Amino acid sequence: MIVEQIWTANAGRNFNYLVACGETGEALAIDPLDHQKCLAAAKAKGWTITQILNTHEHHDHTGGNQQVIAATGAKLSAHVNAKDKISGMDRGLKAGDVIRVGKTVELECLDTPGHTMSHICVRSHGDTPALFCGDTLFNAGAGNCHNGGHPNELYNTFVTQLAKLPEGTLIYPGHDYIARNLGFTLDREPDNAKAREMLPEVDKQDTAKALVTTLALEREINTFFRLTSPSVIRRLREAFPDLPDHPDPKTVFLRLRELRNKW
Ligand SMILES: [Zn+2]
Ligand SMILES: [Zn+2]
Repeated sequence: MIVEQIWTANAGRNFNYLVACGETGEALAIDPLDHQKCLAAAKAKGWTITQILNTHEHHDHTGGNQQVIAATGAKLSAHVNAKDKISGMDRGLKAGDVIRVGKTVELECLDTPGHTMSHICVRSHGDTPALFCGDTLFNAGAGNCHNGGHPNELYNTFVTQLAKLPEGTLIYPGHDYIARNLGFTLDREPDNAKAREMLPEVDKQDTAKALVTTLALEREINTFFRLTSPSVIRRLREAFPDLPDHPDPKTVFLRLRELRNKW
């Protein structure tokens, strides 16, 4: 499996992806908003885009579909429940479905509600496990729930699915928000040494060659995976004096999500 992360340089800081089979040169385009960059990247690599995956129905993920389809004839897949929201879907995906690309790439679909209620993440198994997570999980952060989502569902997705992936899983999110998210981590957990060390580096990173994190690193720097950290809970109590002595992880997650909405 070959992964090309495409920096769109747009105001939304979107990342698009090409996932290719090294044997056949067939490629899957994930959320190819910047269709020109995606088509140009495929051409430069000698790849043929045969499929498109939309992780969810928001326009900044679906907005390049028709141009890529017009140029390549690619087949479009997305969550089965997105069929009334995304035009031209060829395949409706459910949990456990597999997307095959060429001979060597197999991506398993995870049904990951929260950011929206029809959101798919896909994971690859094999030597280098990877997760393409759209707007569910970001580097050092979590998706918002303002446009068709629910924080309760996002919490469930985090604990029952994302947190159970192999520690070495590479994380490929739909946007570059890492610097801002590390700022939130430090606001919530000022003694997080790893986040403090990383912030100046990612702040000036070349986004065309962005840092790719792992789940293990996310557990260190992503507040939404640090729900039992004593300093996270201590700081949270400053914002919410009614917080119980030993808040359950779901309460912590929901309060953090609430604070992040206004931060
Ligand atoms: Zn979205
Ligand atoms: Zn988005």
